[in-house]
Amino acid sequence: MTGEPQADCLFCKIASGEVPATVVRETATTVAFRDINPQAPTHVLVIPRVHYPDAGTLAAAEPAVAADVLREAAAVAVDDKTDGSGYRIVFNTGAGAGQTVFHAHAHVLGGRGFNWPPG
Ligand code: 5GP
Ligand code: ZN
Repeated sequence: MTGEPQADCLFCKIASGEVPATVVRETATTVAFRDINPQAPTHVLVIPRVHYPDAGTLAAAEPAVAADVLREAAAVAVDDKTDGSGYRIVFNTGAGAGQTVFHAHAHVLGGRGFNWPPG
């Protein structure tokens, strides 16, 4: 797996600008944008510009970029002032866990309380 853009991938199209999104942060390796169907007052997706199907394959192939995704997720929480009250970073992995877009992405959720265990 090489991380090349995939023609049929929604998040590759958001990373390239072909599909619009409400972008809140960008770096050379990542893009962060608001989820179209927010589940919390802060609900931002952080994606690598490279295409890997999930967080584990990204981390195995390009660990520095996986770290960039985590750093940007924390920066989103600071930007949205949810870091003080706590926030959640979620990587749904596999359809059985609720993954619907198979381009690695971190959900950054904040601005409300969260239950544990998660649903
Ligand atoms: P997953 O279910 O794969 O963990 O997360 C995919 C997320 O992408 C969902 O929370 C969904 O609401 C979001 N999403 C799907 N299509 C779009 C889109 O076109 N734009 C944006 N901003 N978010 C999207
Ligand atoms: Zn992709």
